[in-house]
Amino acid sequence: MTGTVYLVGAGPGAPDLLTLRAARLLARADIVFHDALVHPETVALAEHAQLVAVGKRCGKHSTAQQFINKRLVDAARVHSIVVRLKGGDPMLFGRAQEEIAALEAAGIACEVVPGVTAALAAAAELKTSLSQRGNARSIAFATPRVGDGENASAWADGIIHADAGAIYMGVGQAAAIAATLFAAGKPASLPVAVIENASLPDVRIRYTTLHDLPALADTEVTGPALILLGPQFTPRNQKNVGVVAERCWTALRTAAG
Ligand code: SAH
Repeated sequence: MTGTVYLVGAGPGAPDLLTLRAARLLARADIVFHDALVHPETVALAEHAQLVAVGKRCGKHSTAQQFINKRLVDAARVHSIVVRLKGGDPMLFGRAQEEIAALEAAGIACEVVPGVTAALAAAAELKTSLSQRGNARSIAFATPRVGDGENASAWADGIIHADAGAIYMGVGQAAAIAATLFAAGKPASLPVAVIENASLPDVRIRYTTLHDLPALADTEVTGPALILLGPQFTPRNQKNVGVVAERCWTALRTAAG
């Protein structure tokens, strides 16, 4: 009997932005392979499990993907519940497909548990909807980061044709991103928000424009950061936001009797 490998989304950072299914699996796990970005409190939910960090942080130490694949297969041959805990959602910029392929090739059962991806946590921090009636009916998720044999320029195509964009793993290439999108016809005045450490206490939000985005590359960005571009990502008047939120609550309370 071999075990099952669960590819589990740990959410964007805050340990309580985890699904109940993920928490239950962690509590029952025999072994957990977790990314470097996963919050220690989330990892600690795996009370009985052997913990293995297979962290990948840009520019820092990384465990080769093939080695991770092999370790998952080996673990499933000796444990019944193997959890591969990944930041955000496993199916977005998480190399889940390679792990699934390796498990399937080895005849090992696997399941995926979705998580809250960084773009959703970033939108929550901004209190700005990713889609907006009349303004943004499409949003493209993209990354300029390329792997071996990938076409370097194709990353921008989706964003160029969409009303809005969410760029993962892009802050280090801010100048190239701005140049590519500007050359493709996006206006220099396009609003841009950069959200660092979304959902965590040390969240940082910076508003800029496509024209001024390259300046960000020079500023210190230490945590994981997401770039959101689109007409809706203008700096918000926080005072009005409060008023609107208060009205919503009043309406809800009234409706609830
Ligand atoms: N699977 C993950 C993404 C992994 S790629 C997900 O669904 O969120 C890692 C990139 O995600 C980072 O470079 C950054 O662009 C983004 N990211 C992850 N956590 C973040 C956070 N708390 N705040 C802002 N961006 C974050």
